Amino acid sequence: MAKLLKILFIPVLILCTSLLFIAATHKEVAGNEINTIVIDAGHGGHDPGTHGGKTNEKDVALKIALKLGKIISDSLPDIKLIYTRKTDKFIALSERSNIANKNNADLFISIHCNANNNTSAKGTETFIMGLHKTDGNLAVSKRENAAILLEEDYKDNKAYGGFDPNSPIGHIIFSMLQNAYLDQSAMLAGKIESEFVDSGKMNSRGVKQAGFLVLWKTTMPSVLVETGFLTNARDRLILVSSNGQQKIAQSIYRAVKNRLTELDKEKAKKEADKTKAETESK
Ligand SMILES: [Zn+2]
Repeated sequence: MAKLLKILFIPVLILCTSLLFIAATHKEVAGNEINTIVIDAGHGGHDPGTHGGKTNEKDVALKIALKLGKIISDSLPDIKLIYTRKTDKFIALSERSNIANKNNADLFISIHCNANNNTSAKGTETFIMGLHKTDGNLAVSKRENAAILLEEDYKDNKAYGGFDPNSPIGHIIFSMLQNAYLDQSAMLAGKIESEFVDSGKMNSRGVKQAGFLVLWKTTMPSVLVETGFLTNARDRLILVSSNGQQKIAQSIYRAVKNRLTELDKEKAKKEADKTKAETESK
């Protein structure tokens, strides 16, 4: 059975990865400019996500997503913002990346909360697509990917390429895939975790990699932010409070702003180099 899964899974994944790279080549501007941002509040509707105390992940994720959107639209009014959801409704994982791709978004930020049987586990971590280095990272992606089990037709959804969230081998093969915008995703992820520490005064567990279905098909730099552990009493206090949610949103915003400044500088340098080369060739 495991062998059969592997036989079926690999060709589909190779095809999808090739298409991803073709899409990346055709959209050269992605990663170099940020005009459109998709904010993705994890879970929703009949998918509550994880929970801690009486709090469900879907509610915290939505509140942080809306707060982040408000700060971005107030501070950077030229940026076009798209939310995958603004209310408590269920959205398939494949639809979330579809929304970002069809709107030619330049950034995809998925917001979640973490959970662990060990209630002392705490802190933020930002994931990008890639091979997990620890079982802990794999466990996070397994938990988040399990959301597709709540989708009625996930087995027939071609977007998932036959991925079976119950198959250990499926997870391993899937996690070997990388998003075409890995470097840009890593740059943003690093800034988010730095801001959580510097401006948010929170505990950071750093930037991690694992195979996330929601990031896999996005054709732009993409991150999945685990904003803290609902299973940890101290983290939960931050996650459930309006102030805490605002602090998290503010940190993510500052990271986006820093990335924008960095891209502007790179663009200005390229233009200056081009002008210099043109002057010298005259
Ligand atoms: Zn989640």
